[in-house]
Parts: sequence; C-alpha cells; structure tokens
Amino acid sequence: MNYQQHLETITQIGREFRYCKSVESLFELDQWSALPRKGVDYRQEMAAYVAREKTRLYCTDQAAQEEEYFAQVPLSEIGDEVERGVIRTFLQRRRVAARTPEDLQRQYSLIKAECMEKWKQAREAKDYRIFQPWLQQAFDLKGQIAKAIDPDRPAFDTLVGLTDDGADVEEISREFDVLKEGLKALMHKLSQGRAPQAVEYPQGDPAAMSAFAQSLARELGFPTDLGTFNDRVVHGFTSFMGPRDARVSTYRSGSHELIFTCLHEAGHAMYSTGSSQKVIDAGLWGGIEGGFHEANSRFYENMVGRSRAYWDYCFPKLVNTLPQFAGMDQDTFYLGLHRVQPSLKRIASDEVTYSLHAILRFELERDYFAGKLRAEDMAQAWNRKYQDYLGLCPPDDTQGVLQDMHWAGDYIGYFQSYALGNIYDGQILQALERDKPDWQEDIRRGKFGPLNDWMRENIWSHGCCLTAGELVKQITGSSLDARPFLKYLDEKYSVLYGLAPQ
Ligand SMILES: [Zn+2]
Repeated sequence: MNYQQHLETITQIGREFRYCKSVESLFELDQWSALPRKGVDYRQEMAAYVAREKTRLYCTDQAAQEEEYFAQVPLSEIGDEVERGVIRTFLQRRRVAARTPEDLQRQYSLIKAECMEKWKQAREAKDYRIFQPWLQQAFDLKGQIAKAIDPDRPAFDTLVGLTDDGADVEEISREFDVLKEGLKALMHKLSQGRAPQAVEYPQGDPAAMSAFAQSLARELGFPTDLGTFNDRVVHGFTSFMGPRDARVSTYRSGSHELIFTCLHEAGHAMYSTGSSQKVIDAGLWGGIEGGFHEANSRFYENMVGRSRAYWDYCFPKLVNTLPQFAGMDQDTFYLGLHRVQPSLKRIASDEVTYSLHAILRFELERDYFAGKLRAEDMAQAWNRKYQDYLGLCPPDDTQGVLQDMHWAGDYIGYFQSYALGNIYDGQILQALERDKPDWQEDIRRGKFGPLNDWMRENIWSHGCCLTAGELVKQITGSSLDARPFLKYLDEKYSVLYGLAPQ
C-alpha cells in the first residue's frame, strides 16, 4: 500500500469512530430528555456495546499495522493540516484504545456507580469522609490507566491530555499562576472602587423567556437548519450529532440568566457545525474538545453577550418583548450583570472569579497525582485554597469539596479546561481586535456576520485538525498566555467600578 492508501484506511476508521460518537450523543440527549426509568438497563447495554465498538476500531490487526506505518511518518513534514490531523488523531486514539488495560477499565466501570452513590450520600451527610475512600480508588485507578497509556509521562499529564489534547501541565501551571495572581490583584483593585448595585432582576413567564433567549441565539448565528432547541432538560448542554447538526438543550426558567445559557450553547453549536467540507470528509468535524470548545462558548456568552455593545443593541428588544423589564433602565440592568462577588459555588461565580474556582481544583488534582496531597487531606486543602484565593471558607463539605460531581463521575483531569477556555478567549479577542478593530461597532448594530466570518475562517473551519495550542499559535503567533485575558478584565471592570485601567 502507498501513503495515500494508508491514509484512506485510517481516515475511514476515524469516520466510523465519529459515527459512534454521534450515536453516543443521541443516547446522551435522549437520556436527559426522554428515557423512561425502566428503559435505563437496556440503554446501558446498548451504550456499552457502542463504546466497545468504538474502541475496537482501533484494536484490530489492521489498526496495529497502520500505527507501525504512521509512527515512521514525520508529522512536521506534512504540509496539509487535514492530513496531519487525521494521522495525529489516529495515533492518539490508537494509543488510548490499545493500551488501556481491560481489567483496570473493568474495575473502574465497576466502582463508577458506587462512587457516584457514595458522593451523593456524603453530600447529604455533609461529610467528605464517606466519599474519601472512593475518591482515592477512582483517582488511583485512573492514575494506573494513565500510566499504562503512556508509561513515560506523569499520570496527571496524560489525564489532562485526554480532555485537552496536546496540553502541557507545566505550561498550564505557569499560566494559571499568572492568572491567579492577576485575578487576586484585580479583585483587590476592584474592592477600592464603586461596586455596581445588586439588582433584583424580575422573573417572568418561562416559556416567553425561553423563546426570547432562543431568538437571540438564532440571531447570533445559529440558524434553524443547523440544529434545534429543547428546553426541557435540567442543565444546558449541546450535543454534536453531525457536522451540520447541533442540538441545544437548556432548562426552562423565567430568569434573564437563561439568555446567557443560550448564547453560551449557541457558541458551542456554531463551532461544532462550522467545519469546512474537507474537514468533514476527513471525519474531523466538530471542533477541538475540552477548554477550546469552552473558549468558543464563553466568547459568545461573555465577550459578546456581556458586552456594552451587545446590550446597546439588545436592551430595547428585551424591554419590548418581556413586560417584566418595562420599568428597568439599561444601565441598571447592565451594571448588575457585572458585580464581582467571590462565592463558594463555581457555577454561580462571576466572570472575574470563575477561573479561580477551576484553577484551585486543577491544583488539588495535580498535587494528588504528584503525591503531595493525600485523599484524607483533600477537604482541608480545598478549604484552605478557598480562603486563600477567594477569602471564603466553606461551612461544610457539601459546599466545599463535594460540590461538583466531576470526581465521582469520571471527570478527573478535567477542571483545567474551564480556566483554559478563559485564557484562550483573551488570546482570541486580541487577535480579533487586531484583524477587525470595529467588531464591537458591528455588534452594536446587531451585525454578527463579520464576527462569525472571522471565527469561521480562523477557528471553526479547522475542526479538530490542530490541537488548541497549535491553533492558538496559528491565530495569535504566541503560545498559551494569560495576560490578554487579564487585560480584558482589567479594562472592562475598572471602567465599571469607576477606576482607571492599568
Ligand atoms: Zn460549555
């Protein structure tokens, strides 16, 4: 076989892998929205079958031969990014599928349900000690699996790489330190300024709010022929069903917060459906998973959705469409969105403090896998970090170390992605402002096309051909850098707090 034939072979494996992932997305959406309780057992059987088939694609003799062949091909000499992406993702998936020891994986699957159950029990009892041995087992098994996948790398680096492909723990730690210190300094600075008043936002009819929020997401650039909305789920998420098919799920609520959820999910949806045809044909559509996808969604939620320009355009619509806002003036509405208030809860935190929640979780995981932190000390270490970074101490474990389901739910080595998303956003913003200095003026006039065109050309069309690090370098010329995000926050919030930007 020649190079082209080898390439076609692994491209086809990649396409079939993508089919399986689409089926899994369908299952997930169905599970959250329509699956009856008694349907769960059979569904789990089917889901396990699809997961096995997905792994099996990379465990055949043919896949082994292709790995041998492509291990000899110097990736850096391949000019075409799609070809490079096909080979890189093939080798990565092959490594994970072929080297994950079946017995360890089985052990992990066996404790998974119990782990979640103990986490729930511990939350109810507000007592971390109930969950502690399960956390330890889950972390240790994950660590062993990671070591088997790549014996030459520290386990935590491999786990982080499974969420954020190509990410480097040392580099992340360095930039997180910069971000952490910058955020602490900014919080201190803002404490000297004039904080916006707390606003009691009116609640309205959930159906009307849902329709309004969806109309804004459509207007932003997520048209009806690329996907649908379903507002009957308990939390917001987007399922990437196909290259031109994204399903946005949200909860129903009469709160204005739903607008930001819809803008966030529209960001995921537009990214996942914006791949070029060449990328789709290669099975690499949908965007880069992990922190970089989060960067896209948070860009539309925060950089666009919480900007002055956006509300100059949108506030009159809000007032005209939803009667509960009739008496409110735009400044009150807008300033109230930007009150910085350290809190104990990650998902309720504001744009400034949010990253600190993610960074401290990342640090706890990193220290655990480095042998510097024991499971029995996790709750205390958590509390100390909250005190240090946010000036707050959780009154109990449920509001502390037990607050997220991640560690009980197979998301270990995941939290960095939330803060990475913000860092990437700062860098994306910097590049956008270099190329389109008037982009805010377009937003103010309700023109989202130029922004989306820029995103499509620079980010969306590339699918997951490149790693986040490679793509950011391509767009900005620099590697991971927390400073542009800090600059964005400082400029925005200093003005809102009546202070001078740095
Ligand atoms: Zn998201």
